[in-house]
Amino acid sequence: MDHDSLPGAIAQARDLLEHATSVAVLTGAGISAESGIPTFRDAMTGLWTKFRPEDLAMPEAFASNPERVWRWYAERRLAVSRALPNAGHHALFALEERLRGRDIDFTLVTQNVDGLHHEAGSRNVVELHGNIRRVKCFDRHHAVDAWEDGDAVPACPRCGSLLRPDVVWFGEMLPRDGLARAFAAAHSCDVFLCVGTSALVDPAASLPFIALEAGARVIEVNPQPSLAHDAILRLEGAAGELLPRLIGGETGA
Ligand code: NAD
Repeated sequence: MDHDSLPGAIAQARDLLEHATSVAVLTGAGISAESGIPTFRDAMTGLWTKFRPEDLAMPEAFASNPERVWRWYAERRLAVSRALPNAGHHALFALEERLRGRDIDFTLVTQNVDGLHHEAGSRNVVELHGNIRRVKCFDRHHAVDAWEDGDAVPACPRCGSLLRPDVVWFGEMLPRDGLARAFAAAHSCDVFLCVGTSALVDPAASLPFIALEAGARVIEVNPQPSLAHDAILRLEGAAGELLPRLIGGETGA
């Protein structure tokens, strides 16, 4: 998109949101980039350019070297706990509040594990890939609220199994309830906003297309749009800059 057409696309997207009767949002790592959290695939900063997923984010990796996996996630957890929601997260919270005031359905589905949507105040959030701030035990998935961070991997107070991050690793199932809510939102919305995802990881990647097939208008916010479909309204740019312009208060969505 050339720069001249961006204001027109924003005006069109604002109009869609203003007249929406049900809104679904999908976010990916890109929305947290401006909070200083590296994206998955960014060529310069992407996490997996420095680490091999099979050494860290798989149950087999944890089983063979739990200390290494625990330490790596402990570092990421610390980085995430220091990060703050940015203008993009805040704008999505503002959108939810505004729509709630008009009794309009709003579901925010995220692939992110950083918890920044909750930090920003968003309420109806579906965390498809878990949350790195939480832990559970490896064997029986008991949720554990308090543990000592150190080199040794702590054990579950209920069953003694080692603790692991409560995120969905490669090869694991996504939460059934979260998936059902995400698909239901994609099917029933009339505006679907897709922000900061490369849309390569299924099933999240299929959600905008489900919405499209069900008759919704799909808006993508991304400096490098990834959804290949002519019907998609593309807003090329950073979420922290464009979402406030799209949602911002003056004329309202
Ligand atoms: P991805 O890294 O594959 O893609 C990031 C996308 O964000 C790209 O399309 C990029 O162009 C876009 N982007 C970059 N900066 C942006 C900005 N300022 N505003 C808007 N868009 C921007 O991410 P993905 O599609 O979410 O898939 C990665 C997987 O890795 C997810 O499943 C997620 O669970 C995990 N992950 C999560 C985090 C996090 O929780 N913050 C971080 C890294 C990876």
